[in-house]
Formats: sequence, structure tokens, C-alpha cells
Amino acid sequence: MTTWSAVLLDRDGTVNVKAPEGAYVTRPEQLILLPGAGAAVRRLRDAGLPVFVVTNQRAVARGLMTAPGLDEVHDRFRELLGAAGAEVDGIYACVHEAGECGCRKPLPGLLHRVARDHPGVDLGRSVMIGDAASDVAAGAAAGCATVRLAASPDPAATVTARSLAEAVTWLLR
Ligand SMILES: [Mg+2]
Ligand SMILES: [Zn+2]
Repeated sequence: MTTWSAVLLDRDGTVNVKAPEGAYVTRPEQLILLPGAGAAVRRLRDAGLPVFVVTNQRAVARGLMTAPGLDEVHDRFRELLGAAGAEVDGIYACVHEAGECGCRKPLPGLLHRVARDHPGVDLGRSVMIGDAASDVAAGAAAGCATVRLAASPDPAATVTARSLAEAVTWLLR
């Protein structure tokens, strides 16, 4: 088994149900975990791997949600994971509009922030998992292995998986 340092997870469409195109999860009650996602995060933790969420949330920049409102959504996120016996070590969000920062994926700023805050995290031995091409690009730019969650293979990713559960099985193989 590869000795991974940490796992970086996208949020929407990876751990929880994505809002319809052009819409955002702006309230705690809108947050719903994808089937099997809580159990998958739990398996990572049971394997001793630190888990961080790195998520683009430009609804804040657009005034559709406040920073405290985003914290409430993340409290709910942790609560739902907790109900599945899972937890994450940190949630890092880019709350900026595209082109205005260095942390909105596909840029790797959020991943670098995780490594800065957690000196034990070696990005070169970590894996970024997400449902978007921008997740794969951010992970690759930070030197991580990448898993794209998609129905058809993504040649840019280290591997493609159909679900977080399948990605975790590959990771812990
Ligand atoms: Mg996503
Ligand atoms: Zn940002």
C-alpha cells in the first residue's frame, strides 16, 4: 500500500450533493451527503490519513452567502459526517471571485495553505479527489496524485473513479 501523507477532498459533487448548475449550497439544510460518502471518509480516517476539504465557494464573493453563513453550512457538513462516524481535519474555502486570488481551484493556493498549516502534510505524497477538471488541475499543480470522479476516464488524472468510495478503495489498495 502506498504511504499517503494526506487526502484533499473537493466538497460539492464529491462529498455532498452539488447544487444545480448556477446555484449554490447556501444554507445548512441544503447540504446532503452523497450516498456512501460519509463511510468513505471514515475509511480514510480509520486508515490514519488526515483528510482536508478544499472548496471553491464564490457565492460569498457574490453576496449570496456571508462568511458566517458558510461556517454554518460547514458545521452541518461536520455534523452529517459525524453521524457516519467520520470527521475531517480542516475545511479550506476560497470565497473569492474567479481571477481575484491565488486560491480558487484550478489554482493550488488552498492546497498550499493546508501544507503551511500542517507541516506533517507532504503534498508530493498526497492525493486530491474531486469531480471537476479544476480539482485535478489544482492537485497536479500542487504535486499531488489526483482522482477524478467521473463516469468516463479523465486522462489528466492519475486515476478516474465513479464515486468517493471507489476512490478510497483505490487509495487504500
Ligand atoms: Mg465539485
Ligand atoms: Zn480565493
